[in-house]
Amino acid sequence: MLRKTGFFFDELCFWHNMGSQHTFVFPVGGWIQPPCGAGHAESPETKRRMKSLMDVSSLSHSLELMSAEPIDEATLRLVHTESYLQRFKYLSDNGGGTLGSEASLGAGSYEIAKLSAGLTYAAVKAVLQGELDNAYSLSRPPGHHCLPDQAMGFCFLANISLAIEKAKEQLGLGRVAVVDWDVHHGNGTQHIFWQRDDVLTISLHQDRCYPAGYSGESDIGEGPGEGFNINIPLMAGAGHDSYMYAMDQVVMPALRRYQPELIIIACGYDANGFDPLARMQLHSDSFREMTCKMQQIADEFCHGKLVMVHEGGYSEAYVPFCGLAVMEELSGVRTEVTDPALAMLELQQPRAPFETLQRQAIDDLKQQLSL
Ligand SMILES: [Zn+2]
Repeated sequence: MLRKTGFFFDELCFWHNMGSQHTFVFPVGGWIQPPCGAGHAESPETKRRMKSLMDVSSLSHSLELMSAEPIDEATLRLVHTESYLQRFKYLSDNGGGTLGSEASLGAGSYEIAKLSAGLTYAAVKAVLQGELDNAYSLSRPPGHHCLPDQAMGFCFLANISLAIEKAKEQLGLGRVAVVDWDVHHGNGTQHIFWQRDDVLTISLHQDRCYPAGYSGESDIGEGPGEGFNINIPLMAGAGHDSYMYAMDQVVMPALRRYQPELIIIACGYDANGFDPLARMQLHSDSFREMTCKMQQIADEFCHGKLVMVHEGGYSEAYVPFCGLAVMEELSGVRTEVTDPALAMLELQQPRAPFETLQRQAIDDLKQQLSL
């Protein structure tokens, strides 16, 4: 089915600079040889190459390509503390520095982060107002690890949370569900909506990967938010079938029970089999199928309203193919591009007894959540 799909991006988001490190845990100097390539894992090239593949395959011609205004200062204060915002702006205005754990920035990153959040809000607004059927925001820097008063994990502003708060304030948005399939835990989004029942947060992530040591299956929210936060930790090495099982057994039933008005996906690609920052085995068809499932639920309850927001994904070579698959699925347009690594990754999928153990853990979680 063909849909009117928006793609929100801005070249300026690619100019945010994370500094000189190799991958991210290896600051250059001492025993760390300077990198010859992009260096930091969170490099703009991964995202730029996704957009490039969309262009050369002509998929971009079938999409509504748009930029947006930066998020406004008043909205920032709905989520973030004044002292954090001042610290962030001061560093950004004075050449950059380190704002938090895995959160170094260059000159001007404050304004770029506001633009990144603005792209997210513009995507949400256009879909809620019916100007688009669904949309994708190529937000950079990403947002799902960011806390109200603390940058972490390459995230400086809580893009999705900011967009939700502004849409609630200005557009009357009611129940909204955030499904986070970035391979790392969506700790920022969980924290911000921990005591709220008007936002259902679901995170699928590699068990104990990031934040290091975190699993979270018992963390279900508190007070009015109890039961409205779901964590699905998956074992390192989990592949396509485990993710699909988790989607079918937990994510989709939870969404059907909640009946949101809008679904937002924290769309990280770092669960793919080539990612340097995680150890999962997904491929482009995994992202295609997960998108299809989410669109199906959105069609059931939200008049199709689905917004994807870019988070992690650090394989320059492979993220473009996973991203293209998501965009093809959102828009209903299939290009002639074939994924050169698909057959290889399909042959590397785990099997019994791994699959059996993983399924058992998902079944246990399903029972625990009474789904
Ligand atoms: Zn991630």
